[in-house]
Amino acid sequence: MKRVALTTDAYRLTYVPRSTRDPVASSRVYVADSLAEQSDEQLRELSAQEADLGKLRWSQRGENADVDKLYDRLNRRIATVKRRMALDAVREIPGYVNVEGDFSRYAGCSCGCSPGVILDQEVHMMIDGRSHCVDLWLEAKSIDD
Ligand SMILES: [Zn+2]
Repeated sequence: MKRVALTTDAYRLTYVPRSTRDPVASSRVYVADSLAEQSDEQLRELSAQEADLGKLRWSQRGENADVDKLYDRLNRRIATVKRRMALDAVREIPGYVNVEGDFSRYAGCSCGCSPGVILDQEVHMMIDGRSHCVDLWLEAKSIDD
């Protein structure tokens, strides 16, 4: 179950304990695509261009220089925006004002299915009276809360 670390008008930051099977202890932050797009006009524009690619989206790298350039720009922008948003949010948690981290496509899984921000330290939160190393999710606040 995700617990709420903090909420603002724009987002909600939730957490769950990291698996004890995971050998790497530093915390991860996963930023929702929809929230990243809401927050950044350039990312919205690049995503719209990608949506307009149609069949060209299946091009192999090297077949179409314009498509390659679009994906390079889109991926760079995703990394920049998600890193900034993740660090801004975690720095709002008392005790983590100096946290740093980098975006990685492989933050949550070696296959690339779970891109996110790998922090330079563990974030600890209390769960049922005990301190746990946690991973965090940054999502848009839904209308009903
Ligand atoms: Zn995976």
